[in-house]
Amino acid sequence: MADSTVQQSRSRDLDKLLLRPGNLVAPTFESGVQLRDDLQEYARLLVIGAGGLGCELLKDLALSGFKNLEVIDMDRIEVTNLNRQFLFRLEDVGKPKAEVAAKRVMERVSGVNIVPHFCRIEDKEIDFYKDFSIIVLGLDSVEARSYINAVACGFLGAYFLTSLVYICFILRIADLESSFFSKACIPETKYDSDDNPLEETVKPMVDGGTEGFKGHARVIMPGSTPCFECTIWLFPPQVKFPLCTLAETPRTAAHCIEYAHLIKWDEVHSGKTFDPDDPEHMKWVYTEAVKRAELFGIQAIASTNAIISAACTLETLKLASGCSKTLSNYLTYNGMEGLHIKVTEFVRDKDCLVCGPGVLIELDTSVTLQKFIDMLEEHPKLLLSKASVRHQTMNLYMQAPPVLEEMTRSNLGLPLFELMGKVSKDIVLVTGTTSKDDKKTSCLRKLCLVFKGQDAIIDMDMAVGA
Ligand SMILES: [Zn+2]
Repeated sequence: MADSTVQQSRSRDLDKLLLRPGNLVAPTFESGVQLRDDLQEYARLLVIGAGGLGCELLKDLALSGFKNLEVIDMDRIEVTNLNRQFLFRLEDVGKPKAEVAAKRVMERVSGVNIVPHFCRIEDKEIDFYKDFSIIVLGLDSVEARSYINAVACGFLGAYFLTSLVYICFILRIADLESSFFSKACIPETKYDSDDNPLEETVKPMVDGGTEGFKGHARVIMPGSTPCFECTIWLFPPQVKFPLCTLAETPRTAAHCIEYAHLIKWDEVHSGKTFDPDDPEHMKWVYTEAVKRAELFGIQAIASTNAIISAACTLETLKLASGCSKTLSNYLTYNGMEGLHIKVTEFVRDKDCLVCGPGVLIELDTSVTLQKFIDMLEEHPKLLLSKASVRHQTMNLYMQAPPVLEEMTRSNLGLPLFELMGKVSKDIVLVTGTTSKDDKKTSCLRKLCLVFKGQDAIIDMDMAVGA
């Protein structure tokens, strides 16, 4: 087929969405050739991850008419990837996934330009992420999602530093924290007079995830819909499979491995302890697992990636063009028995440390840092003792290590208002310990301080919520 004919037939379905008006379109939607052309010329998408889901996403987005794509992935191709990461061939083993994936899609879809980045997501400057219209996530790690979520929520302005510091805290990565601060700049606050984020500072994310026959697709509009951290409980801790599943109805490769490890091992080696560091033991488990997988006809599942990628790509197209309302806001897919798809509308966690406004505290301008720290202990919502306080990039007071404590001790007697540069309203982060069920746990809280008599506009919702 000639190139132009291919292009025409390729955009036929897309044209139905973009060239005609509709009932479910966004208020700003204006159908027409101009929209299609603008989408191709101006929309810049970042795909994070070039694994099973990432390969599908790149292909789908390219075929949906997007022409400016970039992809970031830190991994190299392994032999075990080849069964489902369909852009890779045997001769690619050892090469960076991002580079090979970009090359393969560009070879097959004319006119698309994909820039690969072979590095960790943390290696990029924060500003790198700012340039994209939409960030599409094809990741399998909770930590990486948390990171990108904090970066995207950070573009809202005031939450910029706080959300990043928070992520450093939960990920316990000290070197990341320092690298953030070297990269970070103080943003202008980008809110309208009602404290709603301005549309142009909102960086939409489309997040996909798959495991075996299950998957999810979600749309995150920082500041409007729940962010990744608001619903972090959706990712349960590592699952332990019930023994009956392993023994009778294995469905995934993981079930087969656990069967060999937990059941078969004891049957065959009565009394001998399994040692994961012993290559002979590991090889035995592997061989048994492969036998079991063959017996039950279990293969790597590529269909889930394809289905979730299709859902994510459609949402990305809707976000970029306004051709329809987006998913609201979390789709789950289950192909285990038959096919089940459900959409749930989750709500934002008002106390979310990443996208939330922070616990509101009103203070007199004369309150000293020491008095403030004492207040935190009494505050019914916080009950926070031994607090360290941080404002933007400055440690106002640190309980530890001793050298920092000594350096910041003289601040305790000074008014907090002055330490914070006489702003009428700003965010501070406090870390400390709190007691829950008689157990002391360390925690981090985001507080929104408002100084009385400084003409700050207090959002009534926040005042009531505090
Ligand atoms: Zn949130």
